[in-house]
Amino acid sequence: MFENLNEKLERSFKMLKGQGRITEINIAETLKEVRRALLDADVNYKIAKTFTETVKEKALGQDVLSAVKPGEMMVKIVHDELAGLMGGKSVDINMQGNPTVILIAGLQGSGKTTFSGKLAKHLKTKKAKNPLLVAGDVYRPAAIDQLKVLGEQINVPVYTEEGSKEPVKIAKAAIKYAKEKGHNLVIVDTAGRLAIDEEMMNEIAAVKEAVSPHEILFVVDSMTGQDAVNTAKEFNDRLDFDGVVLTKLDGDTRGGAALSIRSVVNKPIKFVGTGEKLDALDVFYPERMADRILG
Ligand code: GDP
Repeated sequence: MFENLNEKLERSFKMLKGQGRITEINIAETLKEVRRALLDADVNYKIAKTFTETVKEKALGQDVLSAVKPGEMMVKIVHDELAGLMGGKSVDINMQGNPTVILIAGLQGSGKTTFSGKLAKHLKTKKAKNPLLVAGDVYRPAAIDQLKVLGEQINVPVYTEEGSKEPVKIAKAAIKYAKEKGHNLVIVDTAGRLAIDEEMMNEIAAVKEAVSPHEILFVVDSMTGQDAVNTAKEFNDRLDFDGVVLTKLDGDTRGGAALSIRSVVNKPIKFVGTGEKLDALDVFYPERMADRILG
């Protein structure tokens, strides 16, 4: 991932790194290339523009021109700005409540069901939780079976109501069931559509209303670039979610979604999916992601 961006950024710094004395013009040229690299990675135009303007201000403010190693100083400034763009600090999920209720939202195919399984496994091992998975994607029968298979693999029970088409009822009954059986964590998978539609939004908003989740995670395919950002915005306007999960970062993603989502919706990325397997999940650390982008 990010190979292209990484390569282009490296190339844009080369000029500064080789220079004995650099000028304001050299910096401006470098930043023009940085901006182009960001745009090629599918970062939104306004974000790329503001980004390079901020870097320029900092570079001049920190006297890069008279620094002994101006190239390295610029890379450091860009690194810190990239981490800042992605939120700066890592933000944990809210584990309050007994049971803690986590609602998973997103479009069909984004990786919701897979992520639900991954999260159950992660919290079971890392936070010693006793999770219950809830099959709330009632329109795609395969989704229910898929969740059951995932549940078996990680030894986590899956609550289903075969034949029911009422996700609100299912979610409420699942929480009651969790309390009876001593589950301290309930992860509710929900139905997605291929594109945003009113019915889906109404339904998930009704589930939110009915179960008052402690955490709502929005799952999005990082390969979809600026579409990912637009979808995030629509879901956030409607659901006011708590965090973003970027999936398929193992693929040929250009990086735009990772870099833009935070500043567009003002919600932190909390996890990234890096494969189809159940342990292919990473907690999101902006600093580490900036390290990877800069190579
Ligand atoms: P849902 O419709 O949102 O529930 O999506 P699914 O969980 O069924 O995932 C859709 C497809 O994406 C499946 O083939 C998953 O195996 C795959 N998938 C999910 N997460 C990842 C990931 O992080 N990396 C890769 N490479 N594939 C993923």
